[in-house]
Amino acid sequence: MPVTAVVGANWGDEGKGKMTDALAAESDLVVRFQGGRNAGHTIINEYGKFSLHLLPSGVFHPGVTNVLGPGVAVDPAALRSELDQLEARGVPPPELRLSDRAQVVMPYHVLLDECEEERLARDQFGSTRVGMAPFYADKYAKLGIQVADLFDEGRLRQRLGRSLAAKNCLFRHLYGRPLTDPDELLAPLRHAAQLLGPLVCDTGALLAEALDRGQRVLLEGQLGALRDPDHGIYPFSTSSHPLAGFASVGAGIPARALTDVVAVTKAYSSCVGAGPFLTELAGEAADELRCRGGDAGEYGATTGRPRRVGWFDAVATRYGCGLQGASRLVVTNLDVLGYLDRIPVCVSYEIDGQRLDRFPAPARLERATPVYETLPGWRDAPDLGKPDRGKPDSAEPDPDDSGRPDLSQVRDFAALPTAARDYVLALEKMAGVPVCAVSVGPRREEIIWRN
Ligand code: GDP
Repeated sequence: MPVTAVVGANWGDEGKGKMTDALAAESDLVVRFQGGRNAGHTIINEYGKFSLHLLPSGVFHPGVTNVLGPGVAVDPAALRSELDQLEARGVPPPELRLSDRAQVVMPYHVLLDECEEERLARDQFGSTRVGMAPFYADKYAKLGIQVADLFDEGRLRQRLGRSLAAKNCLFRHLYGRPLTDPDELLAPLRHAAQLLGPLVCDTGALLAEALDRGQRVLLEGQLGALRDPDHGIYPFSTSSHPLAGFASVGAGIPARALTDVVAVTKAYSSCVGAGPFLTELAGEAADELRCRGGDAGEYGATTGRPRRVGWFDAVATRYGCGLQGASRLVVTNLDVLGYLDRIPVCVSYEIDGQRLDRFPAPARLERATPVYETLPGWRDAPDLGKPDRGKPDSAEPDPDDSGRPDLSQVRDFAALPTAARDYVLALEKMAGVPVCAVSVGPRREEIIWRN
């Protein structure tokens, strides 16, 4: 049975959560393999609208086992609160397993993250301040706390003491903050152990057995290829590897088991946080796209920050698909672009008068400018009907919308307006990966599958 990874081709927020939720219907296990609660996956289904941060996007499907693998950064309180929110909104309790080797985000990771962003002031990285960089730094400095450590108090005490010795020097002398006493962390960690206890197991063994039985496994990535610390826009990258290649490590399955990689990209570009973003729009054009994008405008699912938006970037997406080893591509948010007469697409970059088709290292990227081609829009295509999804209360009514084609009802690729179809085919050619699906609205069912 194939093991499929769903991963981002760009800067994150491509719509992976929606696609994972949709693909989970045909999966037995859904596994998160990296990251923590620093990003959000928006899902709109029969239970309502959800922003999942830590939980795998298979939690809405009874019969699916959801797994947090060893590569995930586990914040126990945040995990509990997400589970409580599902329960409060009528979602049946999901089948959830947590790796005993996953590591725990500590309060001092969050504090360090905050202190460091404050110290950097204008040079800050735009961290979500939930402790990711200090957490992963500790992991690779061998100062992290594994979930299994929570159940062995002697070992936990020793690990905390070791981890806090140097940090308390920083708190006192660099940041001017109160010191963290390891003993004061023990009571909340005991409580965390109680909360997490029923979920904890050797997820490596669980996955090995599932693969032996021929069960279908979906691996869910967070953020996108361009945020990878080795291959992306370092230092404006994330602290774990959002690549399908890392999925086998972060989930704990053999690399050869992964047979299918679904990369997700938007029909335009968006990016939360700082860092180079060549096709970024400014002014009214940006406001208009931001307002129309996503399910209720382009605002970060975790932070609420306005997302930077821009035109589709073929150089970045081709590179992202290559890094992911994509076997299939999903284009989301096609419905959003229906207001445009013509749609610019970045086909290459230029540095010092020279054309560049390959995404360069960050130092060169800073000097690159985008080269655009313009594709026809489908604004004047015959009206396909109006959505009944309703506008968010805060959205201004847009008198201009009347009579514009609404793609959200379309389920057959051939039924798209010709220019919309041609736009997708142009993106497919530029990315170099076959488009298996086009998403035409934020809801689970608003997908066109291609054979
Ligand atoms: P993820 O982190 O990759 O799961 O992406 P996010 O959930 O952070 O951001 C994707 C945004 O696009 C969310 O607001 C989704 O509800 C929305 N979305 C996903 N697919 C579509 C689509 O086809 N059309 C529209 N209009 N919104 C979509």
